[in-house]
Amino acid sequence: MNYEMVIGLEVHVQLKTQSKIFCSCSTTFGKPANENTCPVCLGMPGVLPVLNKEALQLAMKACLSTNCRITPMNRFARKNYFYPDLPKGYQISQFELPLGVGGYINIQTNGVKKKIGLTRIHMEEDAGKLIHGENLDSPDKSYVDFNRTGVPLVEIVSEPELRSGEEAREYLTQLKSILDYAEISDCNMEEGSLRCDANVSIRPIGQKEFGTRTEIKNLNSFKFVQKAIEYEVARQAKILDQGERVKQETRLYDSDRGETFPMRSKEEAFDYRYFPDPDLVPIIIDNAWVERILKTIPELPEQKRERFVSSYKIPEYDAGVLTSSKPLADYFEQCANQFPQPKIISNWIMGDLLRELKKDGKEIGECPVSPSEFVDLLKLIDSGTISGNIAKGVFEEMYQTQKPAGRIVEEKELT
Ligand code: ADP
Ligand code: MG
Ligand code: ZN
Repeated sequence: MNYEMVIGLEVHVQLKTQSKIFCSCSTTFGKPANENTCPVCLGMPGVLPVLNKEALQLAMKACLSTNCRITPMNRFARKNYFYPDLPKGYQISQFELPLGVGGYINIQTNGVKKKIGLTRIHMEEDAGKLIHGENLDSPDKSYVDFNRTGVPLVEIVSEPELRSGEEAREYLTQLKSILDYAEISDCNMEEGSLRCDANVSIRPIGQKEFGTRTEIKNLNSFKFVQKAIEYEVARQAKILDQGERVKQETRLYDSDRGETFPMRSKEEAFDYRYFPDPDLVPIIIDNAWVERILKTIPELPEQKRERFVSSYKIPEYDAGVLTSSKPLADYFEQCANQFPQPKIISNWIMGDLLRELKKDGKEIGECPVSPSEFVDLLKLIDSGTISGNIAKGVFEEMYQTQKPAGRIVEEKELT
């Protein structure tokens, strides 16, 4: 049978604040266990949470950067469950009145453009971290680190509008790029500041109703999101082909084996007993405040991509690569300001420059050749002093030794 896949993603993103969402503890990553804690985030009796205004404003920025409407009155709820990494016995989250609703993100796969709807964006606090004994001295013990408890997050929930693992990966790439550009989150997946759950179901092509979904939790790389979805779709197809039913359940992905496996079934699902948090007042947001936050949003990747195509007359593909990160786009623009031949710059950046950086495992921010030094090299080709081929060798040497292009050409008599 032929099936269509239906995928909706839930993405948790850590907001780039100095302090936690309801107390003044630091959010600095990698501190000794339990150093970043206080009575509030440890959930001691009688303490009161106070909302971090910066966290709220970054969350508003996340909503506005993804075309969501800000809910003029939204509020926090308590999501009750017991788990040892959750000292209060409930997580402060948003439920029936989330901060943002009805947004979208544009994606493009294989030349096809598509709008992916966002159901909601809400604020919540992160939980702590359990460290199980097998990683430590005593295999029979577990430890808990509350440094992450109370770190501000937004959860970004997509509509079930993604139709392939590739689309899911592209959606995440675009989302990350927006959050990066607008300086909402550092999106560091290794440190857990961007985490993804994938909801996956399949249905016979032509069928209107959705099939039963499974949810794959805590995927920590875009590649694994795509792989886990592809595995899960094949698994579900096999079940339906055998005339059986997919069970609604939560699953985990084992990246070593490339397989998903069950974590808990729907019967074991929590009843969170949500109710409005009586310790926190509702958040009222007027238009003027929304306008103020809108003004803090810089040019986003999509707008920049379009501007690069129209004002530098470079192909869409080039514009996509060059705007994949803001520092790379800035590097390109600094070059283009000094040497008005954008397509030549683009070729060199996409080719030699990115290749050297990749070999080195470096980001553009750590590039040893500055835009003006890079442009000096291109000018030597332009004036006919050296050929394009010779220039490749000169560039490698510039990259290694940080010598100016002119001096390398002189010393090696390459003119
Ligand atoms: P829950 O708390 O149960 O995970 P949420 O509303 O937070 O519910 O998230 C549900 C996610 O699952 C959304 O991203 C939504 O698009 C997606 N989803 C809902 N139904 C299906 C389905 N049948 N197949 C795939 N994804 C689905
Ligand atoms: Mg979910
Ligand atoms: Zn604290």
